[in-house]
Amino acid sequence: MKKISNKPVLFIDRDGVIVFEQQVDCFDKIIYKPGVFNGLSQICREGNFEVVLVSNQDGVGTPAFPFDNFYGPHNRIMETLAGEGIRFDNTLIDFSLPSDNCPGRKPGTAMLEEYKNNGYDLQNSFMIGDRLTDMKLAHDMGIKGIWFTYKDIFDRKVADIDLVPKKDEYDALKSTIALQSNNWLEIANFLVGSDNRLERTAKVVRNTKETKIELSVNLDGSGKGNIETGLEFFDHMLAQVLRHSNMDINLKAQGDLGVDEHHSVEDIAIVLGTAIREALGDKRGISRYGFNILTMDEVLAQCALDFSGRPYFVWNVEFKREYIGSFPTEMFEHFFKSFSDGAMCNLNISVSQGNSHHMIEAVYKCFAKAIRQAIYRYPFSNELPSTKGVL
Ligand SMILES: [Mg+2]
Repeated sequence: MKKISNKPVLFIDRDGVIVFEQQVDCFDKIIYKPGVFNGLSQICREGNFEVVLVSNQDGVGTPAFPFDNFYGPHNRIMETLAGEGIRFDNTLIDFSLPSDNCPGRKPGTAMLEEYKNNGYDLQNSFMIGDRLTDMKLAHDMGIKGIWFTYKDIFDRKVADIDLVPKKDEYDALKSTIALQSNNWLEIANFLVGSDNRLERTAKVVRNTKETKIELSVNLDGSGKGNIETGLEFFDHMLAQVLRHSNMDINLKAQGDLGVDEHHSVEDIAIVLGTAIREALGDKRGISRYGFNILTMDEVLAQCALDFSGRPYFVWNVEFKREYIGSFPTEMFEHFFKSFSDGAMCNLNISVSQGNSHHMIEAVYKCFAKAIRQAIYRYPFSNELPSTKGVL
């Protein structure tokens, strides 16, 4: 009877992915890839995949590679994985030699026939393999590939790697490869993490009768972007945020500056806060808290923030001047209050007395550095930094 399933399938190569060796014909050659137990058990536990091992084992059954030499170590590998909750729903191994041109030998898909038309969710299925032939198989199956290799494979010296992929073959399969990584925890996070976005970006467009604002942010940027608010001093302050937070920000704002700067400053702050909040997603793996203390000549500024999901704002800043250039100093309080509302963060800012320009510049830099710390995402962490279970 044909098996009917609507599950996605996770096809996994063995050699070069679960273990290092390309031909494991004795127990000594069983050396596991780092993180495979942790990553793969998370995938088996939390994912909804039908898990299938797909492997080429050249010439098993020939005098050069007798069945016993294959099955002894292979069964040991499978038993060890099973002990960690990693069980395969099916195991498909091709024993032919490359010269046999067997249609079941990867990248041939003849062994995978039963997965082609039985209702499996191929759109959400993946093949994890260390060779481009594995990605070719993914392509021919109409599924996505996870290429288990160095991210900088093409920049590596040949001596570092035992497989030299061909760039043109890679280019032809590029659209099939959903992830290129040889880190099992990253792969687990990609496949079953609740926040599997590789990019933390957001774009917010806000048009009202008073302002038209378009802002895009990349939390994992390099401090690049363009700020255009029509307010020169404000641009200068936002450029500090860009530079010291390391976020990429592109901001274009057109406001009713003929009335005054109030609406522009307020709305830009709301949009910036909203964009960061959206880019943070469910906040898994982030530091959450950020703080900084910073000196600029005679002044000392400090900022602490918490992306807690609740806005709260404390402002211990007192300017002795009403304007810096033509920019009213009272607008700064309004900016940070509105940011706190948009980002839904707790924001606490203070600065000592001094030159007003130094005071506010130090505050913006300090604020930017606190953001940089708070949005930091621990590599491959899926942890939510809260005891409540939600932020
Ligand atoms: Mg392999």
